[in-house]
Amino acid sequence: MQKIKVYKFGGGSVQDATGVRQLENIITRQEIPVVVIISAIGKTTNLMEKIVATYQAGNSTEMEMHIQQLLQNHKAIAQDLLPGNSVITAAIDMIEMSLRAQLSQNPTDNYDYDYDRIVSHGELLSTALISTYLNLKGIENEWLDARQLIQTDDSFREAHVDWKTTTPAIRNRIDAGINERKTKFFVTQGFIGGTATGETVTLGREGSDYTAAIFGFALQATEVVIWKDVPGLFNADPKIYPDAIKLDEIPYEEAIELSYYGASIIHPKTLKPLQNKQIPLLVKPFFFPEEPGSVISSSSLINPTPSLIFKKNQILISIFPKDFSFIAVQNLSEIFNILSQYRLKINLMQNSALSFSICLDNHWDRVEPALKELKVKYKVKYNDKVELATIRHYTEDSVAKIVADKEVLVEQKNRTTIQMVLKD
Ligand code: ASP
Ligand code: MG
Repeated sequence: MQKIKVYKFGGGSVQDATGVRQLENIITRQEIPVVVIISAIGKTTNLMEKIVATYQAGNSTEMEMHIQQLLQNHKAIAQDLLPGNSVITAAIDMIEMSLRAQLSQNPTDNYDYDYDRIVSHGELLSTALISTYLNLKGIENEWLDARQLIQTDDSFREAHVDWKTTTPAIRNRIDAGINERKTKFFVTQGFIGGTATGETVTLGREGSDYTAAIFGFALQATEVVIWKDVPGLFNADPKIYPDAIKLDEIPYEEAIELSYYGASIIHPKTLKPLQNKQIPLLVKPFFFPEEPGSVISSSSLINPTPSLIFKKNQILISIFPKDFSFIAVQNLSEIFNILSQYRLKINLMQNSALSFSICLDNHWDRVEPALKELKVKYKVKYNDKVELATIRHYTEDSVAKIVADKEVLVEQKNRTTIQMVLKD
């Protein structure tokens, strides 16, 4: 089988002309074909979300302001890269046309559906810009439309991949490029996909890492590299803990646990497919490509260091039956149903005889109606603005350091992991 690598570049890396040139530096050093996955430039996805919100609200003046900002951001990079060149601008204009075509339709009553067909233009813009730039610089590449390759169901904003159709679609498309046209570089969008009926979907915020894993899996890549603005994976956020240690080699299971608990460096769905095919995932520093970064593979864990993970903006909800009865399986099933209806995920739960407590990300737009519904049958109390701290391989010292002057509302531990809901 053809040897191939998958490289993913995040929006933070390709936020300006310097970043795009660095991407160019990195890929031109490669000897084997590379699929380049790119997410939206800088904070574009947040801007796209504003476009959706103003579109849905019918606020066309503000919407137009955001669109102008979006185009301006991309055109400024294009001008920095190749001053006076109109070819990249023309590529940007094409995507603008597609975006405007979407925005000229009336909003539907399905926010998530509208969200996906609009927000996806962030990735369409970044890849059109970068692919065109590389071609102009003589680094020939094929621009691929990920919506035609990553096939999903229609769970808009969090689509599930249909591996049976996606794997051969990617494989065939890339094989054709390599064999028939001798293509070495492919440029495509992270984060987006398409349904069998051709609707655009997204894979969840920060989903571009997952895209890289999907391509890696389908192509049986020799490695998947996530290029980041950090030297690798750390046992704690170096911005908060200056003495954080870089982890050089991490077994898949350990990395999966860390991302599950909220270590924000890798999208949690990313690792499973790679582990299934034993494809190593490297996290490497974008501006220091010679450095080894961190490698996630089937290595074994030697001398584990405590890893600290914080999830902020949590809400701790305690639910009590109104009739003072005990919490029974039946209650739990009702509670879970309500949570699932509002797509709320539980980060931690604990029950006692008289209450059931859960800690969730505080998406208030969904939490509020869920609380309302719970209140029909239960007495509900909650604490917002709490944080969830998790320590893998905890020690007495590491716990003391985290708790410091905070109040512990809930604590849960097993032999390797401790989790605490903390209040300032
Ligand atoms: N652009 C998307 C986001 O910001 C996806 C990604 O960057 O991974 O969430
Ligand atoms: Mg991004």
